[in-house]
This record gives sequence, C-alpha cells and structure tokens, in this order.
Amino acid sequence: MTWRATVLTLFPEMFPGPLGVSLAGRALASEVWALEARDIRDSAMDRHRSVDDTPAGGGPGMVLRADVLAAAIDAADATSERPRLVMSPRGRPLTQARVADLAAGPGPLIVCGRFEGIDQRVIDARQLEEVSIGDYVLSGGEIAAMALIDACVRLLPGVMGKLESSTEESFSAGLLEYPQYTRPQLFEDRPIPEVLTSGDHAKVAAWRQAEAEALTRARRPDLWALRPAQITGPKSESRKSPKNKTDG
Ligand code: SAM
Repeated sequence: MTWRATVLTLFPEMFPGPLGVSLAGRALASEVWALEARDIRDSAMDRHRSVDDTPAGGGPGMVLRADVLAAAIDAADATSERPRLVMSPRGRPLTQARVADLAAGPGPLIVCGRFEGIDQRVIDARQLEEVSIGDYVLSGGEIAAMALIDACVRLLPGVMGKLESSTEESFSAGLLEYPQYTRPQLFEDRPIPEVLTSGDHAKVAAWRQAEAEALTRARRPDLWALRPAQITGPKSESRKSPKNKTDG
C-alpha cells in the first residue's frame, strides 16, 4: 500500500511546495508516496465559510472551531487506523525515532493549526497527537507538517539510494553526525583532515566515531545523556552515568 500523507489546512495551495522537488518530489512523481492537501474551509457550516471564532474567556486572536475541524477530519479519514497528528508548539518534540515509526506505517493525517490554535475539544474528541518541531512558534502548522513529511518520506523504501544512506546520519545511533569534507583538498589554507584521505577504513571509522561523540557531548548534552550504556565506547565509560535517563 502506498504511504499517504493527508494534510488538513486552510492553505492547501502551500502543498506540495518544497515536497514537490528533489528526493521527496521525485518519489511523489513516481508514486512511492501520495499527498492529499484538504481545505478545512470546505467543512465550514455557514454561508461565510467561517472556520474560527474568538477565544472563550477572552484574549487576542482567533481559535479554529471544533465542529468545523471535526467535520474536516471525519470527511478525510473515516477509519481511525492512521496516526492522527496535529502540529503544535505544545506537542511532544518530534524525534527521528517517531519519524521512523510514522514512515513504517500507512502515513498520517496531519492537522495544521493557524491563529491562536485549535479548540481543545476536537483534539480530545478525535484523539489527535500533538507534535512539535521545536521550541519556537511558527505562524501555522503547514511548514511544520512539511518538515515531518519530508523526514518520513526520505526513509520510505526506494526513496534514498545507496548514495544517500540514512544509517550514519545524525540521530541514527543517538549521536550527531561527524563533519563531512569533499574536494578540493585545500580550501583557504584548510586541508581535509589527513586521516580521511589515508585510505585506512578502520582509522576513518574511529575518527568519525570520535568526532560524532565529541560533537554530541558539546552541542547536545541531552542526547548524550540518553545514549544506552551498551553503545558508548570504552572512552565514554568513565563519564558519569546519566541521572535522568528516560525512554523519550
Ligand atoms: N498560541 C499558540 C501557542 O502559543 O502555543 C501558537 C499558535 S501558532 C501561531 C499557529 C499554529 O502554528 C499552531 O496551531 C500550530 O499548528 C503551528 N505551529 C506553530 N509553532 C509550531 C511548532 N513549533 N511545531 C509545530 N507546529 C507549530
């Protein structure tokens, strides 16, 4: 069955956008995956096609109405077998592990918020999983949905060739990726690290592992602390064991 992303948005014209080019675009054209962008406004119930209203309790901005959005979800997805996501800065942060899960399934239905957000009752009633792409606020869920879809699509079978393998990428082993280099050999007095041109594969692998560990430790102590003890190398065993180890 083709992996399918269904996006509910007030701006369906934003799709496929960047998902229509390069790796994801070629895969879309060759039907490795399918994309359906549906206009939430098509489920509006009045002649003005309104989808939002003022927040209960007062405050600035507008809120997407529960009844309109529920109708849009129901029209898009009669079965509940697909993951139902709503992009939200309040959501659980998206991880490569969750991306891999989603890529392995039938493909999600994704609700894109706008304005001040979405009436909580539709999130609860339709059991939407709130997903964040980072601790900052975008003006709408569309770019967040595109980021999530792009991350999933590149993991679908046949999308990445040998040349673009995901096995050594950032997060694949709980580490950030080592630095990459290519020709020219010398760039503004900076040579490629000698080990990478030595032809010694074992030394190259050891150098890359050490660089990945050093980068992760320096830049992402949170990721470093989550690394399972069994995959930390001998060098790492002397470090303090993490106090707050979780599955997340
Ligand atoms: N008032 C909301 C709050 O403070 O949490 C922000 C609403 S934001 C302006 C409008 C929509 O953009 C959200 O409903 C959500 O769909 C999307 N959005 C914004 N930031 C996001 C993020 N970091 N991750 C995922 N979606 C985001």
